[in-house]
Amino acid sequence: MRVTVLSGGIGGARFTRGLLAHLREVAPDGAGGTTAEVTVVANTGDDVWLHGVRVCPDLDTLMYTLGGAVHEGQGWGRRDESSRVSADLAAYDVGWEWFTLGDLDLATHLARTQWLREGLTLSQATERLCRRWSPGARLLPMADTPVETHVELEDGRLVHFEEWWVRHRAALPARRFVQVGLEDAVAAPGVLDALTTADVVLLPPSNPVVSIGTILAVPGIRDALATTAAPVVGIAPVVGGAPVRGMADACLRAIGVATTADAIARHYGRRGAQLGDDARDRADRDVTDREALPAGVLDGWLVDEQDRAAAESLVGEGWPVTVTDTLMRDVPATAAIAAHALALADEVRRRTR
Ligand code: GDP
Ligand code: CA
Repeated sequence: MRVTVLSGGIGGARFTRGLLAHLREVAPDGAGGTTAEVTVVANTGDDVWLHGVRVCPDLDTLMYTLGGAVHEGQGWGRRDESSRVSADLAAYDVGWEWFTLGDLDLATHLARTQWLREGLTLSQATERLCRRWSPGARLLPMADTPVETHVELEDGRLVHFEEWWVRHRAALPARRFVQVGLEDAVAAPGVLDALTTADVVLLPPSNPVVSIGTILAVPGIRDALATTAAPVVGIAPVVGGAPVRGMADACLRAIGVATTADAIARHYGRRGAQLGDDARDRADRDVTDREALPAGVLDGWLVDEQDRAAAESLVGEGWPVTVTDTLMRDVPATAAIAAHALALADEVRRRTR
C-alpha cells in the first residue's frame, strides 16, 4: 500500500509518526516491518535564509519527529539542545534574536547549506540528511526551488512568514499571504507521481492556509490531488472550533474562512465539485467563470467529537465524515486517528466503486 501525506510541521509530523506506528501494528509479519510505503510531501514555504544557512522548519520537524530526535515538549527542534551559538550571535546584534537556532539544529542547516552550495537540490540534500535519521518514510520537499510565504500586513508591509508567526505571534492583522517564487515553482521530483500513484492520500491536521494551502498552490499539485484514483481523506486541524496549538485561526481569518471543522472542509472542497459551488448556491459570491475555479481536493474528513455540529452540517451536504477523538495526545492515540482515516478512505473507495 502506498500512502502519501501532505504535511506542515508539528501537526503533520505527529500525525505521520502515528500513521507509521499504526502501519507497523497491522503489518503482516507483526514484527516492525511494514508493507506500506509512506511518502510525505512537506511544505517549504516557511523556509528562510538566516545567518547564511538555509533553514527548512517543516522538513526538519518531520525528520526529527520521525527519526526520534525531536524536542517532545516543544514539538520542533532537537531534544537535549543548547543555544550557545544563538546567544553569541545576539551579542554581535546579528540576525533575529527572536528566532533561536539550537546548536545541534545548526549542524543540520550547515550540512544542508553545504550540499546546496555544492549543487545538490533540496530533495537530494533532504535525502542525505534523512540517511542519518531513518524517518521510516520518504520525505520530499514540495518543490526544489525556493517558495517563501510572506505576509502582507494592513499597512502594506510585506514580512517573511516566520517574522509574522514567531516574532509577532500572528497578532498583526494580515491582509493576505504571498508565496514568493510560486509562479516558477515546479513540484519536486516524485511529488506528482506520489499523488497520482498512491493508494491513499492523507491530509493530516496541518495548517490549512500556510502549510497545506501552500503545497496545494504549487503548480500541478492541486490537479494531481483532484484527479488521483486514490481516495483523499483529511483530519480537521481544529478541536472545539479552535486550533490545538499555534495561531491557525489568524491565518484562516486572513483568507476569510471560519475556524471550524466544516468551514475548513468546504475551503478544501469536495472532489468532483468546483470550489465555490457552495458559495454560488448561497448566492453570496458572484461566480461567473466556473472553469477558473480550483477543484476540490477531499473525499472524506475526520472531525473531532467536540465538533459534532460541524460534522452534522457536512453530513447533511453529503460529505463522508468520521467523528472521533482527534487529539494527538501520544503515539497510540495518534495511531488510532490514522486508523480511522484509512478506514474512511476504504469506505470512500467502496462507495465509489
Ligand atoms: P506547523 O507547521 O508546525 O505550524 O504545523 P502544521 O501546519 O503541521 O500543523 C499545525 C496545525 O495542527 C494547527 O492548526 C493545530 O491546530 C493542528 N494540531 C496540532 N495538534 C493537533 C491535534 O492533536 N489534533 C488536531 N486535530 N489538530 C492538531
Ligand atoms: Ca510550518
